[in-house]
Amino acid sequence: MHFDYVIVGAGFAGSVLAERLATQADKKILIIDKRPHIGGNAYDCLNEDGILIHQYGPHIFHTNSPEVVTYLSQFTEWRPYEHRVLASVDGQLLPIPINLDTVNKLYGFSFTSEELADYFASVGEPVKDIKTSEDVVVSQVGRDLYEKFFRGYTRKQWGVDPSELDKMVTSRIPTRTNQDDRYFTDQFQCMPLHGYTKMFEKMVAHSNIQLMLGTDFKQVKDELSYDELIYTGPVDEYFDFCFGKLPYRSLRFDHQTVDVEDYQPVSVVNYPNDHAYTRITEYKKLTGQEHPKTSITFEYPQDEGDPYYPVPRPENAALYRQYKQLADEQKSVHFVGRLGTYRYYNMDQVVAQALTLYKKLVGADSLQEAINS
Ligand SMILES: Cc1cc2nc3c(=O)[nH]c(=O)nc-3n(C[C@H](O)[C@H](O)[C@H](O)COP(=O)(O)OP(=O)(O)OC[C@H]3O[C@@H](n4cnc5c(N)ncnc54)[C@H](O)[C@@H]3O)c2cc1C
Repeated sequence: MHFDYVIVGAGFAGSVLAERLATQADKKILIIDKRPHIGGNAYDCLNEDGILIHQYGPHIFHTNSPEVVTYLSQFTEWRPYEHRVLASVDGQLLPIPINLDTVNKLYGFSFTSEELADYFASVGEPVKDIKTSEDVVVSQVGRDLYEKFFRGYTRKQWGVDPSELDKMVTSRIPTRTNQDDRYFTDQFQCMPLHGYTKMFEKMVAHSNIQLMLGTDFKQVKDELSYDELIYTGPVDEYFDFCFGKLPYRSLRFDHQTVDVEDYQPVSVVNYPNDHAYTRITEYKKLTGQEHPKTSITFEYPQDEGDPYYPVPRPENAALYRQYKQLADEQKSVHFVGRLGTYRYYNMDQVVAQALTLYKKLVGADSLQEAINS
């Protein structure tokens, strides 16, 4: 059978493009994924105890884009959810991002917001040219808070010291002088009411879309007949690593069910300093599910394994630019998504990127038009 588009990857990037091209442009689509399921890294499922878990770590939907919300709302209802994270430091569970309560509880102070701002100004170390993740934090909150909350976590997460990592990693995490303990401040923060996979099922349920799961594109590419390819896997792998491997950080997930109703006070607790794992997630606190037991996941960062995080270092960005140039030269191959463009994108950004590519492919004039077309 001949397809208008073969799409490699059934995550957000691939599924959004398949849905738009199939339902709005009447294109015949084949989606291939090497995993045995749709949803990419956002895949969730009921485990053997009937508890909804996120197979590849906790995914919290947050965005400031009304277009992205409008688009996804065609496929799911939402459950309001504001993400809050605690960090286990010096025997206490303290709010992260660092806020007024974090500092007051950690040191036994009773600062007001103004006093905390003065404190940060007094302990922050002046850095002339902020380049690294260490520079960002040390200049804002000083060395002690940096050591307690950031250094160990970042070393575990990325396998390198924050002094060797691009500033964008820790720039994502704000420091607050008020008591706001939300992890994200986006306008829309919610979870798909019946989970991500149910949402993806609706997106790809169309007679123009065929799925080939549990199949690596490389193994079948010579047998396929198609006009255009949309590739959401790793861009370096597509080109057989011709310029060398782009570094990715991976994770090992240790999923467990424990025989208690309630495991920890919030859905995610970070462990910056103790243990080999970085954090523990308790899913019922994300999904609102009620169950006499509870499921948790320990996350162990590692070098080997599925590529999860592009590693933001200048030399990696330079290597990616070589692949990007090659990618741009491919007339009928389109690279999109977190791995296809080697960018640390959140789900909403990937949806927006995919809608923008759709718009380009069909010649729509705006994101709104891409959604309404
Ligand atoms: C631990 C973790 C937590 C996260 N938490 C959040 C969060 O809270 N909020 C948020 O907004 N974002 C979060 N993200 C980011 C989010 O996962 C991504 O933005 C999103 O999943 C990217 O979608 P994608 O389609 O680009 O890639 P993916 O979901 O990775 O999909 C790519 C798919 O391509 C398939 N593939 C690759 N190569 C091949 C091949 N050769 N043949 C066939 N198939 C192939 C893969 O199997 C995969 O299913 C998190 C990411 C991780 C790793």
